[in-house]
Amino acid sequence: MTAIPASVTYAVIGAGIHGLSTAWHLAMELEAKGKGGGKDIVVLDKTAPGAGASGIACGCVRNLYMTEPLHAILRHSVDVWMHDPVRFGFQQVGYVSAGEGNQLPDYERLHASQNRVGYPSDLYAGKDAKKFLKGIWPDFNVDGIDVALHEKPSGYAGTLQAIAGLAQKCVEHGVKIFSGVEVTGYDMENGRVRKLRTNAGDIKCDVVVLGLGAWTGKHWDMLGLPNALDLRYKDGSVTPNKDMWTYWRLLEGEVYIDKPYRTADDRDPPVLHVELMTTPVKEDGAGKELADHLYVYWKNGAERMDRPGVQGGTIPIKIGPKATLDPYGHANDEYQAETNFADYLTGAMAQLMPRFKGHRKNFRERRNGGIGAFTPDNVPIFDWIKPNVYMIADSNHGFKMTGVGKLAARLLAGGNRVPELEPFALSRFSDGRTFGASNSHCPWV
Ligand SMILES: Cc1cc2nc3c(=O)[nH]c(=O)nc-3n(C[C@H](O)[C@H](O)[C@H](O)COP(=O)(O)OP(=O)(O)OC[C@H]3O[C@@H](n4cnc5c(N)ncnc54)[C@H](O)[C@@H]3O)c2cc1C
Repeated sequence: MTAIPASVTYAVIGAGIHGLSTAWHLAMELEAKGKGGGKDIVVLDKTAPGAGASGIACGCVRNLYMTEPLHAILRHSVDVWMHDPVRFGFQQVGYVSAGEGNQLPDYERLHASQNRVGYPSDLYAGKDAKKFLKGIWPDFNVDGIDVALHEKPSGYAGTLQAIAGLAQKCVEHGVKIFSGVEVTGYDMENGRVRKLRTNAGDIKCDVVVLGLGAWTGKHWDMLGLPNALDLRYKDGSVTPNKDMWTYWRLLEGEVYIDKPYRTADDRDPPVLHVELMTTPVKEDGAGKELADHLYVYWKNGAERMDRPGVQGGTIPIKIGPKATLDPYGHANDEYQAETNFADYLTGAMAQLMPRFKGHRKNFRERRNGGIGAFTPDNVPIFDWIKPNVYMIADSNHGFKMTGVGKLAARLLAGGNRVPELEPFALSRFSDGRTFGASNSHCPWV
């Protein structure tokens, strides 16, 4: 192991999407301000870049959020992906969400907000929605579908490619990435972190950035922060004593395909997301009715597949305030997707597009899924949690939030305000600016 420095200005903990994006952008920000550069930054990872959720995700980038301040963040994220789409494996194919008529008012709100912040999308309702969907996928079964939203800047990144690309950008700007270095404790002085304790020795640092994904709660505890909060909402209501971190299990998997998955005009199709609130999904699109998962999404196959396929998922499953973090991801026996997930994914695909009939046997049988840590209102927290510790806790929306590293770098390099980040401050819970309903069945708000 290369020796870690005894002291550094910026220590970034975690070499996932956020740690790497922040370190790269911070190096550029410091260079631009003539205040140093990447040589002042180290990234520490207890395993290696991409060892967390960033290495196993589907990589979908979409702006389908009822939380409007997220729409502006997505614009920055797409800018980051489009900075070097080849190296990040970013496919700007767009994102189409289709739903039932009762969702029209929500989609209208989303569409207006996305366009207001310069994230162009088109909305189709009724017959126009069906026509639009059939124009892309002629075999789309549009029964029950009455609304479609087409986000044009969205798409998907190659997960491993994105991590390799971001790590390379860091190195090109002089940032040092240390694999196998685990932060085991924080030495505090007057409320500030003075030193990081690691398995490779101590590092004195001025500023710490946490990009810890599922491990965020563990470090939150190590920093002595409270494990429950009272959530105050705009209407004056209060949810007392809500767990600070809740773990969910993400369900995603891959299906081999017999013929290339293409649009009517032979392009890589947009990522497709279909909400099936009242339409039951049947086995292979026609057999026995399956348990309700509410929505499905899929896109063309990932870089990790050994033959052509599509990759998709459905609604995650809540675990609770405690979860086993290590081993993580596919290495953890406890949190793998069950057989009924494969039934649902392939059933919904066959029901929506006959081209996928009989594909249950094509489900790629391997370990699938992983866990994520969600905040009390399921919306990210981007904020200082100690005077010199900045936390990026994305509530499991990482590939959609790469732009946060770019925005946070402005603050970390000495900027005063970044308005896009302000709605995501920790103080929202005490100030009555908590997002959404506290008891939503689904963490995407
Ligand atoms: C199955 C699955 C599918 C997903 N699909 C999507 C998707 O399609 N689109 C999307 O936007 N998001 C998706 N997500 C969410 C997304 O992957 C995460 O939000 C994002 O990758 C989190 O990035 P991160 O940098 O915060 O953390 P991570 O990628 O988890 O990185 C954290 C790093 O911290 C390191 N670490 C932990 N503890 C220590 C320590 N003590 N010292 C040093 N290093 C440490 C770990 O080794 C790890 O490498 C998915 C997640 C999962 C699990």
